[in-house]
Amino acid sequence: MRKPLIAGNWKMNNTKLDAELFMVDFKPLVRTHKKTEIVLCVPYTCLEKVKKLCKGTKIKVGAQNVSWADKGAFTGEISADMLKELGAEYVIIGHSERRQYFGETDVTVNKRTVQALDNSLKPIVCVGETGDERAADRTEAVLKTQLAGAFEGFSEEALREVVIAYEPIWAIGTGQTATPEQANATIKFIRKTLAKMFTRPTANKVRILYGGSMNGGNVAELMDMSDIDGGLVGGASLKPEEFASMATYNA
Ligand code: PEP
Repeated sequence: MRKPLIAGNWKMNNTKLDAELFMVDFKPLVRTHKKTEIVLCVPYTCLEKVKKLCKGTKIKVGAQNVSWADKGAFTGEISADMLKELGAEYVIIGHSERRQYFGETDVTVNKRTVQALDNSLKPIVCVGETGDERAADRTEAVLKTQLAGAFEGFSEEALREVVIAYEPIWAIGTGQTATPEQANATIKFIRKTLAKMFTRPTANKVRILYGGSMNGGNVAELMDMSDIDGGLVGGASLKPEEFASMATYNA
């Protein structure tokens, strides 16, 4: 059984004070919930604070990027050690905004994911096609390339530690959600591709999330689908009541 996972991606939002106010509202709403793993991927500056505020709960914290190097001359990057020191357990890797604005490629996604796993951080690796690619019927080809690049050289054991987020770029922050059938079919394709790259039992163990304008109104119908194991949530994760309702959709 794959445990459902709902992860919030705060992106570059929330100061430490904002984070504290969020947690005051959010924490009591999810405190006793056990059926879903809940992760908050927050800005680096909030990590330590949010981790402290999560004490006594099952909420986990994550970052939104990690360097592929241990340390050294990598201005602006952050190391796995630094993230772990602040309490991070998860890290988002290869989000489409990093690919679009910061030159992230399948090669760097691979290197960052290896580094996360080597340092016991759980990677949430993002893949997804643009609207043009979907319109040109290239979704499967694009995903195949992204998966082959991201997990090149991986062992079965390593892949089992990875979480994948399928995030169609046309659905991120647009209010245009993939239909549950569309998202499920594409996630099934991702699993089939992993089964070919590795083995079916390993592919069946990997949690694959959907991301793209997921909200309190559509979470249940998406989560009801056979292959969708959770969500990576942007905008709605900034609203404590709504995000709590999503994280406890199966209460
Ligand atoms: C995201 O940034 O990962 C995301 C899915 O954003 P949104 O939920 O706002 O579409």
